[in-house]
Amino acid sequence: TEVVTETPAAPPADPKLPKISSADRLIFPDSDVTKGDLAAYYAAVAPVMLPWAGDRPVSLVRCPQGRARACFFQKHDAGSFGDMVHQVPIREKDGSTENYLYVDDAAGLVACVQMGSIEFHGWGAANAALEKPDRMVFDLDPDEGLDFADTKKAAEHLKEQLAELGLVSFPLLSGGKGVHVVVPLTPQAEWPAVKDFASRFAQALAQAEPDRFVATMAKAKRKGRIFIDWLRNQRGSTAIMPYSARARAGAPVSAPVSWTELRDTDTAARFTVRDAKTLIDRAGSRALQGWGIANQTLPDL
Ligand code: ATP
Ligand code: MN
Ligand code: MN
Repeated sequence: TEVVTETPAAPPADPKLPKISSADRLIFPDSDVTKGDLAAYYAAVAPVMLPWAGDRPVSLVRCPQGRARACFFQKHDAGSFGDMVHQVPIREKDGSTENYLYVDDAAGLVACVQMGSIEFHGWGAANAALEKPDRMVFDLDPDEGLDFADTKKAAEHLKEQLAELGLVSFPLLSGGKGVHVVVPLTPQAEWPAVKDFASRFAQALAQAEPDRFVATMAKAKRKGRIFIDWLRNQRGSTAIMPYSARARAGAPVSAPVSWTELRDTDTAARFTVRDAKTLIDRAGSRALQGWGIANQTLPDL
């Protein structure tokens, strides 16, 4: 009889992709996912991920020793990532200019993995119009005791309330605990206006249903409630990018779903880095047609 052994996914063979050192290093020890596996995942999903995560400033969660060890957020770099990871100069509050990182191809994603990155967080604005968000995000953070059904209901509620204001929205599984409700925007309004809208909208929901929602950061007020984190919508803030892996148990990834699919989903960590093929197929599926796309601007609130 034939002995079938699991061969680890080979590191990307594409000569245009950067070499992965220590490709056998276990980045997710709990799920046997190596650095090479993670690089292969990003190389595979690059075509569906880059439209959302490319050509905009990103912050990376780097865990050089794997997800169970020290991780840190990184948004600037002096050049150690090599020339496949690019830099965009951004004016800071104090008037100085800082270079932020961005990628625009599979090689850039893989170069970040080579540097120990697991997660890609991004701005809600593209390099082409850094002051004009093309995406508003409501990050729903359920308190410990709540289950995913509550989060789903909350996401649906936001969808309906946004629709009443004429705004189309889409659910993104965070890969962690929650759901992000993503509102595509035509880049027109600037950060202060988008932040103001997001804040008023979240606060109105919390005021209408104070037992269910909270729109302030204070942890103490979150007991048994869902925090509508609207603070992703300020200049310099980031949110997890679609298809980004998460540095969490099980190697989950963030993933777009349709509103109908969300109803049949029972965890925000439904997809993992093992699901590259599924995710690519899904991206071309009828259910996800038009996901994240809408020409719309914010109404007055
Ligand atoms: P979950 O569904 O488990 O909440 P999440 O990605 O929404 O996953 P949050 O902790 O709610 O995780 O964070 C929301 C977003 O805030 C992140 O996606 C990230 O972009 C940003 N963020 C979180 N922590 C930091 C940090 N230390 N530095 C910079 N940005 C952060
Ligand atoms: Mn969250
Ligand atoms: Mn949050």
